[in-house]
Amino acid sequence: MLADYAVHVEHSRGRRHPEPTHPYRNDFQRDRDRVVHARAFRRLEAKTQVFTRRYSDHFRNRLTHTIEVAQISRTIAAQLGLNTDLVEALALVHDLGHPPFGHAGEKALDAAMRRQGLSFDHNLHALRIVEDFELRYASFRGLNLTFEVREGIIKHSHDYPAAEHPELAEYLLDQRPPLEAQLIDLTDEIAYNTADLDDGCEAHLLTVEQIAESVPIFGHCFDEVRRLYPTAEQKLLFNETLKRVFDRQVGDLIENTRERVAVANVHSVEAIRLYPARLAAFSPEVEQERRHLKDFLYENLYFSPALEGEKDDAERIVGELFAHWMEEPDDLPRNHREKAAHEPLPRIICDYIAGMTDPFIFQQYEKYCRD
Ligand code: MG
Repeated sequence: MLADYAVHVEHSRGRRHPEPTHPYRNDFQRDRDRVVHARAFRRLEAKTQVFTRRYSDHFRNRLTHTIEVAQISRTIAAQLGLNTDLVEALALVHDLGHPPFGHAGEKALDAAMRRQGLSFDHNLHALRIVEDFELRYASFRGLNLTFEVREGIIKHSHDYPAAEHPELAEYLLDQRPPLEAQLIDLTDEIAYNTADLDDGCEAHLLTVEQIAESVPIFGHCFDEVRRLYPTAEQKLLFNETLKRVFDRQVGDLIENTRERVAVANVHSVEAIRLYPARLAAFSPEVEQERRHLKDFLYENLYFSPALEGEKDDAERIVGELFAHWMEEPDDLPRNHREKAAHEPLPRIICDYIAGMTDPFIFQQYEKYCRD
């Protein structure tokens, strides 16, 4: 079933703390289940992806986005003969480190940290969650995930320069991650690019005509759908169009990655790691379409004046709360205060804020920052 270039669970580099094998779940299945049962995973439900609940309560949040990424990733991985258990674990964990308020919250938290000479990065934060913050087991802190899942958390979307991150040396920063991890970044894009068009239309911030005019691949599929269903209502035409755009990206990613792997003639996960480039990729044509779509979303949705107010709120709330706890560390919960004995206070505050849901940070803001 598994391709020779897939990660085979029996060859896993294992866990930090050795554990007995489970009678009916392999190590990657257990890692997937550990992520699903983590507190940080449950909090994703109340974290903004792009839209807050002001617009509607049937829009994506971080949790439903995560489930969509897992679904797409499993489908693609199965077609490529990759390890679907590992892929599923990586997809479910991929956004675990995101702070409240979506991208605006992340930017604000990073800005607050930079004022202290530090920084915030959601992948590094996700690693801290699974390595340290989740407390479920009597014999160790964290979830004790396998090496391959921790490596994927760090390397799926970003190449961290080895020289700047000596603390991550064990994750082989000078090598590519396995295809299972490489996939996640691209399926993440497929998921949010299409979902944001959908939610953007539902929020009346985008119109179908506007997308069809500005995004060539969407326009092309929209014409086809209108010919096929001349009397269908607009929303269903939109759905049919989006489905085609989505399928095109998924199909292309499968076929193009399969071809690149064949051309590269790699036959082991070590060869994937040592190959000079990532082999999971769209074809140049679909890559350009993806770029177009992404640029459109930036210009017309993510930077739209309609979302400006919420972004400003996010920056103000994160910034003011951070500053408050810097001045009044005694207002932090006891377990966080105690940690400040071993780690810099800004990092403690950053970890605390990053873990919060949108409703909880609002509540904290009301408590400490409202006169
Ligand atoms: Mg994501």
